[in-house]
Amino acid sequence: MSKIMIYAEVTRDNYLHTVVFELAYKAQKLAEKLDSADVSALLICKCGLGENFKEAFMNSGFDNVYIVENDRYTHYSTELYSKAAIEIIKEVQPDIVLIGATTQGRDLAPRISSSLHTGLTADCTGLDINENGKLAATRPTFGGKLMATILCKTLPQMATVRPKVFKPSPENIVKNTNFIYKDFEIADIKRKVEFIDFSANLRNEINELDSAEIIVAGGRGMKNEEGFELLKQLADVLDGTIGASRDAVEMGLAPQSAQIGQTGKTVTPKLYIACGISGAIQHLVGMQEANRIVAINADKDAPIFEVCDCGIVGDAFEIIPKLIEELKK
Ligand SMILES: Cc1cc2nc3c(=O)[nH]c(=O)nc-3n(C[C@H](O)[C@H](O)[C@H](O)COP(=O)(O)OP(=O)(O)OC[C@H]3O[C@@H](n4cnc5c(N)ncnc54)[C@H](O)[C@@H]3O)c2cc1C
Repeated sequence: MSKIMIYAEVTRDNYLHTVVFELAYKAQKLAEKLDSADVSALLICKCGLGENFKEAFMNSGFDNVYIVENDRYTHYSTELYSKAAIEIIKEVQPDIVLIGATTQGRDLAPRISSSLHTGLTADCTGLDINENGKLAATRPTFGGKLMATILCKTLPQMATVRPKVFKPSPENIVKNTNFIYKDFEIADIKRKVEFIDFSANLRNEINELDSAEIIVAGGRGMKNEEGFELLKQLADVLDGTIGASRDAVEMGLAPQSAQIGQTGKTVTPKLYIACGISGAIQHLVGMQEANRIVAINADKDAPIFEVCDCGIVGDAFEIIPKLIEELKK
């Protein structure tokens, strides 16, 4: 029987990352194409935490959950986590391993794949099973101009997927999940990096981009800090969050954590307001799944107008204050 394993990432505040549920639902669909493959999760966490997630695992279609608990796992560590993940994967021998392309997943996945001498397709936007029962992992390439479908010759076939690329199951998929506890000797493993403290980003609101329902995003057309201050005011009135194009990030108008697009975040808010953003393909791949897109741009031929539901042609510095005024009413 084929096996699919998902890395069940735990967030800093001790919840299962939403990407776990997105991957779980995708894994169910892949499993159907593999004659009901076994779907398992790998959870690495501090002692006792696994208990909190059992119901969530049972309602998300997992056949087996491998739990590795140790208080040394309280904070993510490349050396400690990869040791546990590699040992479990060697033992279970899954055909496919899926990991969220989060900060943690992007660190962990290549470490595992290089250690197991297998291939890893990063930042996939599509996963399927081909006619030979192999994982067909699709991702943008050549700066987003082409979509490449990549097959892996070795096992396990590994892929990372950014949060929000797939949707979680709309309803519970209840299974009689087996919980298998594992333990490894990690006392002697030296960490190159020690966790000292966590301090929030000064512009902390930007960390909420992944789950934001309203995003006000700015590009090069917002020109300067005053431009972004206007966006902030608009976001405040709408109870939204600030996002940015790569050019705006490179201009120092927003931190990298606010970048949306191919090399930034993928977002699916209810409302996305793009201000002074031209709509390059690398930006669009990160936001075009938003429910409603409003674009404000001085150039009537800007490509962003091809994907938006509502387009306003004009100077954002004139339009946004009027919008704020109207919204306040
Ligand atoms: C491999 C690769 C990865 C990339 N990844 C990303 C990514 O993750 N995210 C991303 O965003 N980009 C990414 N890029 C860059 C991307 O190709 C574009 O260069 C970038 O998105 C352009 O940003 P922009 O729209 O802010 O700037 P521009 O393309 O310069 O557009 C500025 C827009 O502002 C408008 N404007 C100017 N003044 C005003 C005004 N007063 N009022 C209203 N509108 C105005 C202009 O008409 C113009 O349309 C990537 C590129 C590559 C090659």
